[in-house]
Amino acid sequence: MRLPITACVTRAPWSAAACRRFLILGRARKTGEKSGDKSPHSKLFAAAQLLAVLLAVSSCQDRASATAPASTSPAAPAGDDGSGISAAKAFEHMKRMVDFGPRPSGSPAIKKTQEYILSELKSYGLKITEDDFMGDTPKGKIPMKNIIAELPGASGDVVMLSGHYDTKLLPGFDGANDGASSAAAVLEMARVLSKTKPEYTIWFVFFDGEEAVVEWMGDDNTYGSRHLAAKLTAERGIKRVKAMLLVDMIGDAKLDMMKDADSTPWLVDLVWKTAQRIGNGKNFLANEAGYSDDHIAFKNAGVPVLDMIDFNYGPGNSYWHTKEDTIDKVSGESVKIVCDTVIKALPELFKLIKSGLPAETQRVPNHAGGGAH
Ligand SMILES: [Zn+2]
Repeated sequence: MRLPITACVTRAPWSAAACRRFLILGRARKTGEKSGDKSPHSKLFAAAQLLAVLLAVSSCQDRASATAPASTSPAAPAGDDGSGISAAKAFEHMKRMVDFGPRPSGSPAIKKTQEYILSELKSYGLKITEDDFMGDTPKGKIPMKNIIAELPGASGDVVMLSGHYDTKLLPGFDGANDGASSAAAVLEMARVLSKTKPEYTIWFVFFDGEEAVVEWMGDDNTYGSRHLAAKLTAERGIKRVKAMLLVDMIGDAKLDMMKDADSTPWLVDLVWKTAQRIGNGKNFLANEAGYSDDHIAFKNAGVPVLDMIDFNYGPGNSYWHTKEDTIDKVSGESVKIVCDTVIKALPELFKLIKSGLPAETQRVPNHAGGGAH
């Protein structure tokens, strides 16, 4: 099923009606399921979605077989592999974190994860800040910790490379993709970039408390990113942050990311064009969906943001927030694809920052919790 969906969203501007249907469903799914993960209603909703997606796909397939070109891959030099990111190391990070067990905020296993991340960052020679705070959750105060590693650049202005490392509070939930892959990606980018002297300062940020403690509603989510954005705003440090790039669920062995409609358009374009240029275009799809995630707090603080997320994990996204999110479903290669693309996009991003960022920072109003657009 997955491949035809990919074909649909990448190939089929001419079958707009069917594909738009899929996209609207994609957006509703994120908000609908996050606000009621396990309810019978959401299961029914998911089944209805699956049916509708299949219908949309079959419609797309008809048109695709009639008129689409044979390949969706962009013309790009093969084997452009100069970033230094190791798929094996990325996988090892994911495995180590999964082996700690479920890692919700405040748990013994997230403490081990923090120690692991800190020891890795120290071995890269980075300056580390532990941003401890109490998350005010529906289950009471929970101790949380953002971890920030700084790589000084020629300029003190900052580009943030970020992801969350906590996992959803569910019994037996490994979070190999949702939690471990984002932390693995930021660790690998930190390892590789720590050997360089970048034009701009880079902060490698590991957010705690991205996941809802009970339900993804109101303030029960994105504790770490909201805390850090508020803290930077209060300390007047937010102006130094020229761009915030976020990764989430990018370890899916079948990696396909849609553009996030709530991200800053020029930043989306920059990274998506880089992906095309280095031969990763097949993983960076042309269509859009809107995602609630850790970037929103920074967007609301006026920072240009980009969320790279693959919200199509398993058939009908069925591995998301379930026991199916296990180490055998993720791939170090997928993490590498995303990290390579980000690293290769940095020179162009630095150039843009230097010349003054594009005026258009936000195309859509602040995220209002979903709905088709
Ligand atoms: Zn999640």
